[in-house]
Amino acid sequence: MPELPEVETVARDLQRRVAGAVITDVDVRWDRTVRHPEPPERFAAELRGARIQRVGRRAKSVLLHLADGRVMTVALRMTGALIVAPSGTPDDPYARVVFHLADGRQLRFRDVRKFGRIGLWEGGGLHRRAAAPGAASRAVRESRDPYRVGDVFARHGPEPLARSFTAGRFGARLRGRTGRLKSLLLDQSLLAGVGNIYADEALWRARLHPLRTANSLSEAEVRRLHRAVRAVLRQGIANRGSSISDYVGADGEPGDNAEQLAVYRRTGEPCLRCGREIARIVIGQRSTHFCPRCQREPLLWEGPQA
Ligand SMILES: [Zn+2]
Repeated sequence: MPELPEVETVARDLQRRVAGAVITDVDVRWDRTVRHPEPPERFAAELRGARIQRVGRRAKSVLLHLADGRVMTVALRMTGALIVAPSGTPDDPYARVVFHLADGRQLRFRDVRKFGRIGLWEGGGLHRRAAAPGAASRAVRESRDPYRVGDVFARHGPEPLARSFTAGRFGARLRGRTGRLKSLLLDQSLLAGVGNIYADEALWRARLHPLRTANSLSEAEVRRLHRAVRAVLRQGIANRGSSISDYVGADGEPGDNAEQLAVYRRTGEPCLRCGREIARIVIGQRSTHFCPRCQREPLLWEGPQA
């Protein structure tokens, strides 16, 4: 499943390729891909003539900012991809939504397993302070209409690569939490964009066992984890993402980061730091990979350690 670096790569590719493009028509071929507005005919009608001003990202969604202020969100989920197809490219049977552009190209939302979702929203509310950890998305649940795009992300935590996301702020969000580090890193209300791959990589880099609880971390360990999370995400972006299963960039090419991963899906292979075999355990139904020597197992009586 694409995480922050993969979605960021798609957004940057699209910024280069479709910023300024005008949407002339939209084919919705799988109705459930369109989350908002309904029905799909309305979604298509509201996009006709719209100009894509710029492309960005929030959490694990691509954001297409339209010139009139509205924002289209694309959640890639398991197998979704946004592909720019030059005019004359053969049709793709897995294209669930096709945006026809005025210059003859198509922006295709390709999604084999059909879990991806696209929405079109009024602008605004994206830059308000992130929700408190564990907060519910009240606006969306009460189905206020029209939603603003900010409401879609109301229960998401801060962006880990934002300048404002300091170690102090991370520590404040972790304070008093009794959850396991692996589960907390996957909690999108604590931190947006981290998934299974980058959670395992960050914990290995920070030399923290995935079963450690947040409230057992010393200040030095919080700083280490904060640095590690940002480093593995930046490395993922630099390598255009990790193609573990279906992920491809907007050029249809896989990313290069899978070969750079230290622990994820390297069970039984030597730790790059100490040579010990990488182990795999399951935490909260998620495969978790770590080095049993570098990432020492927490003991019940153990307090914070430097
Ligand atoms: Zn090791």
